Amino acid sequence: MSKMVLTVGEILVEIMATTKGDGFLEAQPLIGPFPSGAPAIFIDQLGRLGTPAAIVSRVGDDDFGRVNLTRLAADRVDVSGIEVAKGEATGSAFVRYRTDGSRAFVYNIAHSATGKLSLTPESEALMAQCDHMHVMGTALSAPGLAEVAREAVERITARGGTLSFDPNLRPEILDSPGLREALDEVLARTDIFLPSGEEIYLFTQADDEDAAVQELLDRGVREVVVKRGNQGASHFSRSGRADAAPISVDEVDPTGAGDCFGGAFVSFWLAGASPETALRYANAAGAHAVTKMGPMEGAATRDQLDALLSQAEG
Ligand code: ATP
Ligand code: MG
Repeated sequence: MSKMVLTVGEILVEIMATTKGDGFLEAQPLIGPFPSGAPAIFIDQLGRLGTPAAIVSRVGDDDFGRVNLTRLAADRVDVSGIEVAKGEATGSAFVRYRTDGSRAFVYNIAHSATGKLSLTPESEALMAQCDHMHVMGTALSAPGLAEVAREAVERITARGGTLSFDPNLRPEILDSPGLREALDEVLARTDIFLPSGEEIYLFTQADDEDAAVQELLDRGVREVVVKRGNQGASHFSRSGRADAAPISVDEVDPTGAGDCFGGAFVSFWLAGASPETALRYANAAGAHAVTKMGPMEGAATRDQLDALLSQAEG
């Protein structure tokens, strides 16, 4: 039987400015709503690859919620753990790229339906059923979400389940109360750690990557998978290092690349693939993701990944 993956975290819509510039201080053309939320994108990528997957979250009884429920269900994600909250609004993020590639956001998350998660019979049933838990750092930054996410980690690992962890932390949220402690607690149980950029140094004293990886492995993390944007990715474990060169693609919208990368890595890892194979497909999933406008639009099927890899390697 295929192993089933659970994540807990925010579901929202993303609405994107179609021009580059500094934020939202004047009326401007926008496109959206796109289904979004880092945990939702991650779990959608698993669903598209055919891995049994579920998300515990909360949306409002509105079209922004329905956009997400419809997409996730179409991609075979189990949506039984998504509570539909009457009279509340689904979370949203307005995003505009600046000319330097950085992003300006207007968020409605903490005070939206998704920010008020609590245990439900449906979410507890999923925690009892799933074999693997994935934690997105963003989910630990909102109090309601964090409590449920930590409960899921606790219950699934107590039953011998495995754990992956993508810190996915934007500097704006790092100061949230209790976040540090929650991150440390999750890291201590992590099998697969998936940092990008400077995130590898969040939990280490080291000042170079090799030393940071060593520190993490010494603390009990089994595998460290470093995401490098358009520079590809690397995998580290006690048995050594593997690298994936970047696949050359036209980058349309980088949002969601890391989440699709993680979803693909976990899908192949749980199916028993070698680290090299899991890394190769994850690298392709990240590259595929950036070719599409909209954070979840670039989640790929197995056929799409095979086509991209044979084009890149052939
Ligand atoms: P985010 O949190 O915004 O979703 P991230 O910072 O977690 O992203 P990235 O390092 O940006 O993750 O991307 C994840 C992976 O996707 C990279 O390691 C790489 O394999 C692939 N990737 C991303 N951007 C590109 C690109 N422009 N060309 C080729 N591959 C890419
Ligand atoms: Mg990320």
